[in-house]
Amino acid sequence: MGEVWDPARAVVLREVGESSVGEVDAAVERAGRAFERWRQVSAGDRGRLLRRFAAVVDEHLEELARLEVANAGHTIGNARWEAGNVRDVLDYYAGAPERLTGRQIPVPGGLDVTFHEPLGVVGVIVPWNFPMPIAAWGFVPALAAGNTVVLKPAELTPLTAMRLAELAEQAGLPEGVFTVLPGRGEVVGERFVSHPAVRKICFTGSTEVGTRIMAGCANQVKRLTLELGGKSANLIFADADLERAAASAPYAVFDNAGQDCCARSRLLVQRGVYDSFLELLEPAVRAFRVGDPADESTEMGPLISAAQRDRVAGYVDGSRVAFTGSRPDGPGYWHAPTVLLADSPGDRHWREEIFGPVVSVLPFDDEADAVRLANDTEYGLSGSIWTRDVGRALRVARAVEAGNLSVNSHSSVRYWTPFGGMKRSGLGRELGPDALHAFTDVKNVFVNTEE
Ligand code: NAD
Repeated sequence: MGEVWDPARAVVLREVGESSVGEVDAAVERAGRAFERWRQVSAGDRGRLLRRFAAVVDEHLEELARLEVANAGHTIGNARWEAGNVRDVLDYYAGAPERLTGRQIPVPGGLDVTFHEPLGVVGVIVPWNFPMPIAAWGFVPALAAGNTVVLKPAELTPLTAMRLAELAEQAGLPEGVFTVLPGRGEVVGERFVSHPAVRKICFTGSTEVGTRIMAGCANQVKRLTLELGGKSANLIFADADLERAAASAPYAVFDNAGQDCCARSRLLVQRGVYDSFLELLEPAVRAFRVGDPADESTEMGPLISAAQRDRVAGYVDGSRVAFTGSRPDGPGYWHAPTVLLADSPGDRHWREEIFGPVVSVLPFDDEADAVRLANDTEYGLSGSIWTRDVGRALRVARAVEAGNLSVNSHSSVRYWTPFGGMKRSGLGRELGPDALHAFTDVKNVFVNTEE
């Protein structure tokens, strides 16, 4: 049995059973049988079932959000967005099965057509930082494309995924189509990877585990999507609207207590405005409201665990602190929003993904220097560019090696646009229309029409 904690109070919420290898094997076998039926369900009926699932989720938004506040320490505002995102992703892909069309290709002597064939059983492995949306970005397009899914939530945050499985049943999804298996990565996750009947792994988590999974998939040439770590840049040019950029910068990194793969945790400020930008940033950081995640006005809750808090503190100890925000006293895994001054791009806190409410600041000289520093990382997930010069915005956006960039904004995700990383931040794209194809193999069929 695994203990599931409330990180804001440091108390055990519930005990959750851990699935064994035998239970995984039985679930995969059920999912395999369900696949033979699910792939025959007409596109319209598959879409209708997903739409009904979306409606059931919609009726339980507040319950799901409260569960995430308790289990992950997410602010109630964020948790409502996350539950709503699951509903929206279900609604979006409910329209997809009927649009999953192949092509007719002109060839001599016959007819050539392509089909997008579902893969079979898909294994989705989810991290603890955004348990609901990341689960949905994997399992929903997989189901829409005609696959069945076994899903492993993170050890620390299994509750909302388990509840979603109950809601799927309530919505009428056939048995075995969507199964949630809580348990340990080394047991359940590894069995997904080694099981020959699991045809694709859709993994979100650390680069370290992702590379291990990639190696594990190689033997069977198993399909794979990886959404991994990040160390994204927030580039502030001297010609930017500095007030707006400074008001946005705390949200760009402290949202979800910095436990966000898209966190803009490297703040690069053009030298001429470096001091004035930090003067604007300081009051915004000090005013950031950290506290009870269930309180409607809270902007940042606790970290997920004592271990994560201590890990984050390890990066701050001995580093040059510019200023910090506040943190509550008492139980819970709190860490204040913290701004660190980097001495050079070699600093450990500048290079490594901290996954906490810490941002490192460094000045740059000109556009070329900004791009060079932004790209001086093994990661390539997201980033922001603040400038009033539209030409520069586009030049820099094209030059920065990252999958998701925003100009004069810190936003990262829209469910109808592609999301994913370059370099060691990942492989493949989620969301949007392309994600559907990632859960299929293309089959080409030639029909001879010669007499
Ligand atoms: P993690 O890699 O430790 O765990 C992720 C999941 O993998 C968990 O469910 C875990 O149980 C499982 N797992 C662990 N070992 C495994 C193994 N050997 N085989 C199969 N599965 C295994 O990551 P985490 O600490 O839960 O999450 C934080 C990381 O996730 C950060 O690096 C963050 O950047 C990344 N992340 C990336 C994205 C993205 O979209 N790029 C989104 C969210 C989080």
